[in-house]
Amino acid sequence: MINLTDPAEIKRLAAAHGFRFSKSLGQNFLTDPSVVRKTAAASSENGVKNVIEIGPGFGVLTRELAACYDRVVAVEIDKTLLPVLDETLAGLPNVTVVNADVMKTDLQKLIKSAFGGGRANIAANLPYYITTPVITSLLESGADIASITVMVQKEVAERLTAAPGSPECGAISAAVSYRANAKKLFDVPPSSFVPRPKVTSSVIRLDMLSAPAVPAQDEKLLFAVIKAAFGQRRKQLKNSLFSAFPNVGKQAIFDAVDGAGLRPDIRGEKLTLEEFALVADRLYKHLR
Ligand code: SAM
Repeated sequence: MINLTDPAEIKRLAAAHGFRFSKSLGQNFLTDPSVVRKTAAASSENGVKNVIEIGPGFGVLTRELAACYDRVVAVEIDKTLLPVLDETLAGLPNVTVVNADVMKTDLQKLIKSAFGGGRANIAANLPYYITTPVITSLLESGADIASITVMVQKEVAERLTAAPGSPECGAISAAVSYRANAKKLFDVPPSSFVPRPKVTSSVIRLDMLSAPAVPAQDEKLLFAVIKAAFGQRRKQLKNSLFSAFPNVGKQAIFDAVDGAGLRPDIRGEKLTLEEFALVADRLYKHLR
């Protein structure tokens, strides 16, 4: 039986298939069986039966997911991994590998065609170079996603799961908390991978909300306000907003901040999601 958590087995497979690890594709493969088990278990906890895995690599997490789910679709960009996956996933009829760049994949379409509709979870040991764009596009895809369980760089995990208003919070944390409940689950040291990355990783889970966390008249405007606030996070909110929306005028911006019940000197990084929505809704009439 293939043991994909054994570094010797990884070496053997790589040599047998002439596979070379690509740094630029973030190819650090998991070799810690407890991390693999815990990630798949956390991902499938909500009882959803279908999962899309991003970046199966040699298939270590894919095999565990296959045991936890009815159906697994694994999206892998690197076609040199396909013959390896043919070998490592042989005999698993509930797994399908799709050779594609997840950044160019319409996930809503994939979920429909692969699972015939219904909700799906997302699971991944994500390559670091696409963490933020993948998570942002998953959150905004409108696809029927129930939860996203991903391994990311520890610092990024802390940012993604930070509560708005807390010191670690950034624009991405606010965007996450608008659409999901985010939880950091556990840390994973560099020694859990082959080859070893330089940084510690963490597994997080985003449980998607059935409706956005706060009502907003115009989502795009809400995100523009959040981006403006964190773009110049040490500045007073009213000044950041004036730089971002000069046509609104200083008085209307002061009124929006005041009307949202905020101190005139408050800094953008201090706002909760509700407060961002209150400010955005007060700016709305000036920007239509
Ligand atoms: N899941 C495996 C594991 O845990 O051992 C491999 C994880 S490795 C960190 C990231 C994987 O994502 C690699 O297999 C890499 O080729 C793949 N990948 C990188 N960029 C991708 C993209 N844009 N779309 C799909 N897969 C991608």
